[in-house]
Amino acid sequence: MNKSETLFQEAVTVMPGGVNSPVRAFGSVGTTPRFIKSAKGAYLYDEDGSRYIDYVGSWGPMILGHAKEAVIDSVVDACKRGLSFGAATAIEVEMARLVCELIPSIEMVRMVNSGTEAVMSAIRLARGYTGRNKIIKFTGCYHGHSDGLLVKAGSGVMTAGVPDSLGVPAGCTKDTLSAEYNNLNTVTEHFQRCGEEIAAVIVEPVAANMGVVAPKPGFLKGLRSICEEYGALLIFDEVITGFRLGIDGAQGYYGVKPDLTTFGKIIGGGMPVGAYGGRREIMELVSPVGGVYQAGTLSGNPVAMAAGVTQLTILKEHPEYYTELNEKADKFYCNMQEILKKSGYSWQVNHVGSLGCLYFTETEVTDYESAKTSDTEAFAAYCKHMMAHGVYLAPSQFEAMFLSLAHTEEILNETLKIMEQYFLAGC
Ligand code: PLP
Repeated sequence: MNKSETLFQEAVTVMPGGVNSPVRAFGSVGTTPRFIKSAKGAYLYDEDGSRYIDYVGSWGPMILGHAKEAVIDSVVDACKRGLSFGAATAIEVEMARLVCELIPSIEMVRMVNSGTEAVMSAIRLARGYTGRNKIIKFTGCYHGHSDGLLVKAGSGVMTAGVPDSLGVPAGCTKDTLSAEYNNLNTVTEHFQRCGEEIAAVIVEPVAANMGVVAPKPGFLKGLRSICEEYGALLIFDEVITGFRLGIDGAQGYYGVKPDLTTFGKIIGGGMPVGAYGGRREIMELVSPVGGVYQAGTLSGNPVAMAAGVTQLTILKEHPEYYTELNEKADKFYCNMQEILKKSGYSWQVNHVGSLGCLYFTETEVTDYESAKTSDTEAFAAYCKHMMAHGVYLAPSQFEAMFLSLAHTEEILNETLKIMEQYFLAGC
């Protein structure tokens, strides 16, 4: 038994499923997790000394590659000055200024500790601002694990095949309405029925928790105008897309301005961070200015802020990085398609910039129902092969692949060669 297997045996006795987040378990692809010891650039190294080309990137934040020197140095520097003060710091102001400068729809921002917290707080704020209770979310979109949002969610919830969670009282989800991604009619129907009760529509502008599903032309703009018509707020959950599709996120990429935006991990450069922000008149309702209560002992933690400010500053100073990353990704996914065309598999490759997904289905994937037509056993066999040959993929059909700036053409070609062996030579 290797070290990862031994660790996993011990882990399951002291941690549920042996992991601290369900998406890290590899049970759904019939294997066990690799225990990671270190990472550098595009590579992960496990406890057994095996090297993997990493397409998870800590689920998004590692856009510059792992252990980027400047980010690590800023963390070490910040640590030396103290880990947490529970008091205001200059670096928080710097972070807020950066986010407001880079995201045109944001005039004020509040830092929190995770994407879940960011979304939960943005929803409370939308309810406080509008004086309404209901929200609309899309089937297959994931917005963290707060009670009210575990309704027909994507990510690990979809992988496990359980649309809801035990322990969530019915009262917590009675105001959560579900609509179909890329289908404006299902949104309009809710508004026609009870528009005066709907506080907000929350959407992943690119759905990246049921694989990767791009918004159809007009979908996001349609949401914008429906929300305006009925006086509801539009919330973009940019935990995955923020600072990834471009410096101004999916809202810049698609040219649609939400009222509120949520961010997560990427703005912490790998440290635990989240944030929500939007127009001043809405944000000024947050405590201590307004009556929408929200707080956090570790919010705006100076070490996390140091990592985040360094990562965002590098991205801001190098707009060419996004062109480079997106062009590299276009080529990679295009080459992947060329390989699959020659194989006997049913497949769809969806990608938007550096986010991508290979589905094992003939059906075009545009929403939750079509994503679910994918053959998850075929995915599991493919994933297992890639892992065995040094390519680390998310162990689920319903997660995105994340490319980073550290994925050189050589590394991407090495990955394609391993895919080619699997799909064309069957080994
Ligand atoms: N929103 C989206 C779009 C996500 O993808 C995630 C997590 O991946 C979350 C919210 C929750 O973020 P966290 O896991 O940091 O709580």
